Amino acid sequence: MADPPATPAQEPDRRRAAPPAFAAPVVRTFSSTLAPATPTPPPPFRQFPPSLATGDSEETPGSAVIVAESDSSSSPAETQESSNQVYSNGSSRDILAPDQQSDAKSQPTFGLANGRTNLIPGGPPPGPPGAIPMGAPPANFNHPPHFLGPPPLHQFSGPPGPPPFSSPLRPIPTFTGVGASPVRGSTFSEIPLAAGTPPPQPGSANGYPSSADQPLYNTLVEDDFEASGQSASSSFVLFTSQTMLKDKKLTNTASLGFGALVSLGREVSPSPPMLRREGIRCRNCGAYVNLFCAIVPSSGHWKCVLCNKLNSSEGEYKSATSENVRSWPELVTSVIDYADAGNRRPGLMSVTDSTMAAPVVILVDESLDEPHLQHLQSSLHSFLDSLSPTTRIGIVTFGKTVSVYDLSELALAAADVLPGDSTPSQELLKMLIYGTGVYLAPIHVCLGVAQNIVSSLRPYRGDLPEVARDRCLGTAVEVALSLIQGPATELPRSTVKRSGGSNRIIACVGGPNTLGLGSLPYSDTHPNYAYLEKKAIKQMDQLGHEARRLDTAVDVLCAGTCPVRICALQPLVKSSGGVLILHDDFGETFGINMQRAVRRATGFRGVLEVRCSSEVAVTRVIGPGEEAHLESSEFRKDSATAVQLLSVEDCQGLALNMELVENILGDFAYFQFVARYTNTYHLQVTRVITVRLPTTGSPSTYLQSLDDEVAAVLIAKKSVLQAEKPSDLADVRASLDERVKDIGLKFGKQMPKTKVWRFPKELPRLPELLFHLKRGPLLGNVVGHEDERAVYRSIFLQASFDLALRMLAPRLLMHRDGGTFEELPAYDLALQSDTSLVMDHGTDLFIWTGLDVAADEALSAASAAACRTLANELTESRFPSPRLLAFKEASSQSRYLKSRLIPAHKDPPYEQEARFPQLRSLRPDQRGRLKSSLIPTDDLSFCEWMRSLKLVPPEPS
Ligand SMILES: [Zn+2]
Repeated sequence: MADPPATPAQEPDRRRAAPPAFAAPVVRTFSSTLAPATPTPPPPFRQFPPSLATGDSEETPGSAVIVAESDSSSSPAETQESSNQVYSNGSSRDILAPDQQSDAKSQPTFGLANGRTNLIPGGPPPGPPGAIPMGAPPANFNHPPHFLGPPPLHQFSGPPGPPPFSSPLRPIPTFTGVGASPVRGSTFSEIPLAAGTPPPQPGSANGYPSSADQPLYNTLVEDDFEASGQSASSSFVLFTSQTMLKDKKLTNTASLGFGALVSLGREVSPSPPMLRREGIRCRNCGAYVNLFCAIVPSSGHWKCVLCNKLNSSEGEYKSATSENVRSWPELVTSVIDYADAGNRRPGLMSVTDSTMAAPVVILVDESLDEPHLQHLQSSLHSFLDSLSPTTRIGIVTFGKTVSVYDLSELALAAADVLPGDSTPSQELLKMLIYGTGVYLAPIHVCLGVAQNIVSSLRPYRGDLPEVARDRCLGTAVEVALSLIQGPATELPRSTVKRSGGSNRIIACVGGPNTLGLGSLPYSDTHPNYAYLEKKAIKQMDQLGHEARRLDTAVDVLCAGTCPVRICALQPLVKSSGGVLILHDDFGETFGINMQRAVRRATGFRGVLEVRCSSEVAVTRVIGPGEEAHLESSEFRKDSATAVQLLSVEDCQGLALNMELVENILGDFAYFQFVARYTNTYHLQVTRVITVRLPTTGSPSTYLQSLDDEVAAVLIAKKSVLQAEKPSDLADVRASLDERVKDIGLKFGKQMPKTKVWRFPKELPRLPELLFHLKRGPLLGNVVGHEDERAVYRSIFLQASFDLALRMLAPRLLMHRDGGTFEELPAYDLALQSDTSLVMDHGTDLFIWTGLDVAADEALSAASAAACRTLANELTESRFPSPRLLAFKEASSQSRYLKSRLIPAHKDPPYEQEARFPQLRSLRPDQRGRLKSSLIPTDDLSFCEWMRSLKLVPPEPS
């Protein structure tokens, strides 16, 4: 099908003045900057000013230092000012501001008088009364619970916890299945898992008191309090249903499935309570004590909910009563953070820390044409202004060579140049690292220099087409990693234990990697192309893993119309835990994404452990993680599923598919998610999330408790994972049809005297969400270029629930008089000429203006402003920030929006009105106009599709 062009026509950004006539950067060799100590002869490489790297320059003598005068007309101050005009929302986050921990210090702390000082159960409550205000449980992910006051501390918590454990898990015995990555089994797409390890045998002797002969009480917590404590977990974990079927066969119905979406890095306010100590764990299975555990008042023993064994708390809970239980936050709320600051002072960064803060290295493509470069310079100026003063940055450009800029050169832009066509030798890198240049510097020291460097960048001056220009991206990443590694660069990377934290390399790329490490020939008609592609993928994957060992995520931000050959870039990004994003240009959205890329991580070096009731097994994990290889456990019966997280951040999440390995006998099933990571303040955090689901024998109770949006996202992640190649698409779409049909047959009702089944009314949204999935950018024909789909796919597979749901099915909002918006089904019946529409499709956001609105200047301006404001609100914290396009009805771009709407105009009027009630508010002439404006199409409407599956669609919710 003929799609609209992937990119609208480029226009130079007229808001910015022409780039200042800044001189070309200084280029120097190592032989001139190095101490003569090294016996190694000067490296034999040609060096070029980056802007001249087109191959026709004269070779520069090895010792020359080319100095050029900088133009005084472009002072850094001016540059900043002009960039500020472009983006007004680039506020910076100040790392030095007191963080939540230091805030919490001034708050009343938990547990000051607990433990041994208050041995009589039922004594006066030692904790501050009312420290945990009640609140209604949140309805969903979008409304973080207001269940807690300021994050409390538990600094004086009596006896120490169990002995520290460095490798608490035993490995999953066998990992089955094939990961999605072509190279290393699983990177982020799927973490294959064996069906759970055998559950611990009940009644096995374990050396602990049996639960039978101990008096237990578990009514510590009153009901409403319990509800708010339990609901805290819903900010981080969403299950497909709020109850579990006891029956194994029905739960494991493959078409519907059971599971959870986990987003551990979500930033919620208020943040979960944080205890400055280690958590108390079950010595049998490794689970943490939690709000569902029964406590023995006489001894302080607690009963593990996962394995039913009694554990000692070493007296810690001896005094716990229903009155004072709030002194132990871990016993009253479902999400708790344990922090171990090590020898660092939490909340404050020392001077050393601020100079050693995790660096951000910016890689800039040297072969951009003038309009692209102007956009990029504008974005880079804003980006630099937005960084917090302590952020260390580095600037590297790549083309035929790699230029590493010296941030200590105040008056002029100076760079050291390395060859781009091969991996730099250790000697060369050593010369760079030990040279006189300063390549990483905190922004408060080097902002002016950095802005000068950006202003000095030159457009491409050769005559090669974009796709054929030299871009040694892989080599540039290699050099950037050496800068990050610093003087330790001589050591093998696998032996380096610590770097500054979550480092970042952000590559601004306008075309494919064509030179050196991981490059591809620019023409795919090259006789050896298939072999070279395989080699490039392997090299980039290795480079990504190397980056990861240095805690460095590589983000590749592409822009322009030139194909970048995603297949060879994606492995680098995936293996390092970064993100690849395509942009139409280097303008506003590109700049916003650069800024959000730096801020998005909430932690690094993360591991997730999942423990469940013995009847439940985690069968598959999809998302930004790798199977974790953990050494033998100190716990006897630890059957945790462990996943190494590639990143811990707000907009990412894991999808966990689960199955029952046997029927459930008890009234509840328990799940515990434990995330260990280092947060941005260098605190070692262990976040423990415990969820209890009631079990039921009634399928209808189960169906009623289903969350069809969570179920749809889980199904969609499985389906999109399968659609790796374009040739898979038809099969995956067909399997979605089968799935919906099977859910209808298994859970729906047969219509009398027909072979038609009514889809279960408890899942009113599910089939339509999956219909959108089938038609939309992930599996359908909406996206023109396969590269674009590959990028959507990888973002979707990493996405948290909110972002994944938006990418799955668009959200449509109609502008109303007075600036309000009405949410409507994403049907083409909304294309009414006297309205404006906003469509949010996760990675794309469209603003559509009807012709009647466009004709009225005042109305058009007001509606455009309202739509733009809404668009910003919807996507304020989203990463990646979506592409935003605004267009009028009947323009060629309006097909972007139209192709994503369900063609409901084909349905009979009664069905239209039932599913799109807003139609009833239209006058007959309006309806007539709408009808005539919608052209016939072969695409099925939702109702037609359901009928083709012999299903009656559920009533709209
Ligand atoms: Zn246990």
